[in-house]
Amino acid sequence: MSDIDIPEPETPCSEIDPELLSLVASVTPNMVLILDAEGIIQWANPGFEEHTGYLLKDISGTRPNDLLNGPATDPDTRARITRKLCQGDPFEEDVLLYTRSGAPFWIHLNCIPVGAEQGVKPGFIAIMNNISDHKQGERGLRIAASVFDRSHEAIIISDHNNRILDVNPAFSRITGYSRLDVLGLNPSILSSGRHSPDYYRSMWQSIQENDHWRGEIWNRRKNGEEFVELQSISRVHLNEPGRYYHVATFTDITALKNHAKELDWAANYDELTGLPNRQRLEDRLARARTHADQQQKTLSVCYLDLDGFKAINDSFGQTVGNQILRVLARRLAQALHSGDTAARIGGDEFGLILQSDNHDVIYKRILSIINEPVDPGTGTGPITLTASLGITRYPADNADAEGLIRHADQAMYSAKEKGRNLLHFFDPELNEHRQQRRKQLTEITRALENEEFELYFQPQVRIADCKVVGFEALIRWKHPYKGLLHPAAFLPTLEDSHLEVPLGQWVLKKAISQMNLWHQAGHDLSISINISARHLMDQSFTRYLESYLHSHPGVKPGKITLEVLESTALDDIRRASNVLTRCQELGLRVALDDFGTGFASLTYMRTLPVDLVKIDKSFVLNMLNDTSDRAIVESVIFLGQRFSHPILAEGVETMAHAHALRKLGCDYAQGYGIARPMPAGEIQEWMQLWHKKNSAAEKPVCASAPGW
Ligand code: C2E
Ligand code: CA
Ligand code: CA
Repeated sequence: MSDIDIPEPETPCSEIDPELLSLVASVTPNMVLILDAEGIIQWANPGFEEHTGYLLKDISGTRPNDLLNGPATDPDTRARITRKLCQGDPFEEDVLLYTRSGAPFWIHLNCIPVGAEQGVKPGFIAIMNNISDHKQGERGLRIAASVFDRSHEAIIISDHNNRILDVNPAFSRITGYSRLDVLGLNPSILSSGRHSPDYYRSMWQSIQENDHWRGEIWNRRKNGEEFVELQSISRVHLNEPGRYYHVATFTDITALKNHAKELDWAANYDELTGLPNRQRLEDRLARARTHADQQQKTLSVCYLDLDGFKAINDSFGQTVGNQILRVLARRLAQALHSGDTAARIGGDEFGLILQSDNHDVIYKRILSIINEPVDPGTGTGPITLTASLGITRYPADNADAEGLIRHADQAMYSAKEKGRNLLHFFDPELNEHRQQRRKQLTEITRALENEEFELYFQPQVRIADCKVVGFEALIRWKHPYKGLLHPAAFLPTLEDSHLEVPLGQWVLKKAISQMNLWHQAGHDLSISINISARHLMDQSFTRYLESYLHSHPGVKPGKITLEVLESTALDDIRRASNVLTRCQELGLRVALDDFGTGFASLTYMRTLPVDLVKIDKSFVLNMLNDTSDRAIVESVIFLGQRFSHPILAEGVETMAHAHALRKLGCDYAQGYGIARPMPAGEIQEWMQLWHKKNSAAEKPVCASAPGW
């Protein structure tokens, strides 16, 4: 046995190389200090140096307290540490320390006394872990907990099966359920049953896809009362895949909603009858219009106004009036089909939107239910009313909601004009025409202000010797972008409008002042001025004429001819005759224009004081090849001779016309064959040319007139 080698036992832990152990202290990221029995630093490991910024060589011989404590270090903890060191007891503490540069950090301190027992000098080994992160987390949790408890919003936390894990006090306050009532339950216990399964499905879909949903939900409190909440639900994922929980927060917005409803009522409904008001009618009409477009259906918009309702208010008082309005409102609402609307627009006016088919039947029904007697129950006995109904139909009338109501209103006025208890349809085409007219009248007003009108002049000559006897003033509109407009483009619009007289006065004034300019230049030219019937019959006509002549004393009234349209029916021929006589007394001459085209040519020729008769150009233009026209021209010339009225032929376009007219005994001629109407500035030059050509001819029968 002795020669058998018995192996030495392995080295036990306690006998590990001390160098290795001191290496542990050097490499650990924890902070390690060795203090002597007085608590004075003997050694610090590199972990300590790195954390605190203090180097061993600088701090050995000092006390940790002097180095590491700072303003927020808890004084109690500090005192406890000092006491423990004095007593030489082991201890652990969490304490806030400061680095050399002043940055605070939390450590967990573990201090162990050492001494003879371990075979070393008495003192302490202090091991410190940085626990700042942990402390920070703790603080966050504390804040979160206080938010949870103090929030005014209710908070529900539920697991991935939507079982409630926790609710906060606000939840209990709003719903009436305590925390214990609901733990482990599904939040659907709050359900009011108001929402469809689809509503919840789309909510969960949003949570599934976006981890979030926000919206309004009607729920029920523990006491059964319904309330509406604005809720937001978030899905919070945990680190483990597939594990999450839900955080739902909500506020009770029932009061807000009720208030909004009250406001909506006040803004959109009529207090007296409870019907929608005009505002709401317009909104509904806008929607009905879109709907009609989609469904390719028609709509009727009606405007109903009670006939003579004011008299009822006046004789029975407002209370009775109000009661009648309430009864009629109820009847109207009941008479309509679902989807139709009856609204009170104001006073005794109601608006209706009819979406249903068979509108014609409903119109009559509406008028007839108004006709049924109403007993306001105030001892007055039954009262029977009628209404006027204006109707417009969409899309034939393609106006917007506001326009449709306005058009129905216009139609209602037309119904009223026709009598009581009637209906009238709005005519979109007529309206379009009226609108165009209104637009042009506005434009004409502007044109008058901007001096866009001008007078052109067309010469009138004596056929016998080609002498220019005068010029007819013809109006032109120098339109800013349409160019030069002839009277046919704007006079028809003007007819019977409030602008007819102002424009007539402008012509009169302009023509007379042109004559005055000619007079000052030494040319006393005669002028013919066209006067519309309405202008002639206007009260101020002669007064205005006189004042103009008065302010231009150089102008001789005998050189002015007023051309009165024979084709216009002069309503009051006696008055017309008086006005013209008065004009003749002032020295003016009178011509009967467009002779032969009107209804009462002969009456006019006999009754009106006439100095000249103008044969309308429509007969003259074709007299050479149309025997009837020629016959009319002949007859007019004959009549003129019998009545001793000189005759002027318009529309003399060629020399052949002039020769034919001369043979028939016509006195004067006017037409493109002599000259087209020209601006005032061109007259002098034209006159010279005309004079030269005609005096050069041996027989000055206008033979050399341009174009003849
Ligand atoms: P009117 O009084 O019969 O005037 C003659 C019209 O015949 C003028 O048209 C003239 O340019 C045109 N005319 C002249 N010679 C010929 C011709 O040989 N052939 C053809 N085809 N036409 C010829 P205008 O200037 O377009 O005036 C049209 C009408 O407008 C006038 O017819 C007159 O009734 C009215 N008018 C023109 N100026 C005034 C005005 O200042 N006041 C009023 N109330 N009416 C006016
Ligand atoms: Ca004329
Ligand atoms: Ca004429």
